[in-house]
Amino acid sequence: MNRITWRGLQLLILIAMAPMPALAQSDQPTARAPRREFEGPIAVSDVKPHIEHLASKELRGRSHAEGRKAGEYVRKHFEAAGLKPLFGDGQSFFQEIPARNPQTQERYIAGRNVGGVIHGTDAELRNEYIILSAHYDHLGVRGGKIYRGADDNASGVSMLLSVAKHFHNTKHQPKRSIVFLGFDMEEKMLWGSRWFVAHPPWPIGNVKFFLTADMIGRSLGNLPLPTVFVMGSEHSPLVKLALDDVGSPKGLEAARLGIDLIGPVPRSDYGPFRAKKIPFLFFSTGEHPDYHTPNDLPERIDHEKVARISSLIARLSKQLGSQSEAPVWTDELKPHIDEAKALNKICSLLMKANDDEEYKLTDLQKVVISQAVLKTKRIITRGKMSANERKELISVAQVLLLSVF
Ligand SMILES: [Zn+2]
Repeated sequence: MNRITWRGLQLLILIAMAPMPALAQSDQPTARAPRREFEGPIAVSDVKPHIEHLASKELRGRSHAEGRKAGEYVRKHFEAAGLKPLFGDGQSFFQEIPARNPQTQERYIAGRNVGGVIHGTDAELRNEYIILSAHYDHLGVRGGKIYRGADDNASGVSMLLSVAKHFHNTKHQPKRSIVFLGFDMEEKMLWGSRWFVAHPPWPIGNVKFFLTADMIGRSLGNLPLPTVFVMGSEHSPLVKLALDDVGSPKGLEAARLGIDLIGPVPRSDYGPFRAKKIPFLFFSTGEHPDYHTPNDLPERIDHEKVARISSLIARLSKQLGSQSEAPVWTDELKPHIDEAKALNKICSLLMKANDDEEYKLTDLQKVVISQAVLKTKRIITRGKMSANERKELISVAQVLLLSVF
């Protein structure tokens, strides 16, 4: 994940503190079929070896020469999963990202995106693309310390490689083409994904859906939360429906939040795609004290959670890859009840932490927080939230951020 603004970071902390109801919950008060739970198909044994290798001491934080090694590792596994090379007219898995030395004006290759594709089976739909992605670079060695980046973002890459292998093993033949992309240089202002969007192998409008997973192996504040935050579905009703349809792996809570809750500055590779109004989802389990420190270690990863998130993404991409209609972008945002539930949960947790003397809230904070609990409870009971109520919730969230976190 890309560290851009402290405020954005705080927002993510707030949001990521919320364990939330599963994604099949609707913003409509009408009764729905009970949310579907499923197991697998991706297991700990699929994701764990990738995380351990990519975040090993040997790969020294995946920058410079070791960044190239990490890219090579991704390519090797794409190839083993039967993906076809995405770049150079189907001849290369690599997309080189050129740069110029500001002093000498010499050109050099600053990084490489890695891409593979499963071509769709439908004569027409195969020209529509579903992109699954994760950045594979990290911060390298700084001040003599290796920043191993197990959560950021060996976890996301392990999802990418496991889902590719799963498609291969089940001989799943989607109607649309499924693209697997390992971005380089995310940690450098999203340079890899920006380069890709500026130099795609086909018109960028052919991309019907973009998904990125960045930091999916931990839990914010190290709280024991079974939650992954799924952001961006508000921009596409069909993506929202597909999430409802797919359900959730056992033991995982997928909580939908509006991407605007983490601020206008993109926090990961969804940024350049969002700017093109391509329907997208951003999966993240949120930030934690080891974020961008040498302590982001493989032994601290919740592999079970990574496997469950990967399973969810595998199912979702199969569905979006083969359903008749492609997602389309909408600017018209409808408030989602999940957000009220999130804030309710955060405020309730904070009150509990105060009662348990883990947090010391001031009297003023107690008033704001207890009011927020009541307000969100009313919204949840009603089953609907108005645009004005959402604005209010955002301001409550910001008051909390400024005074609590
Ligand atoms: Zn990062």
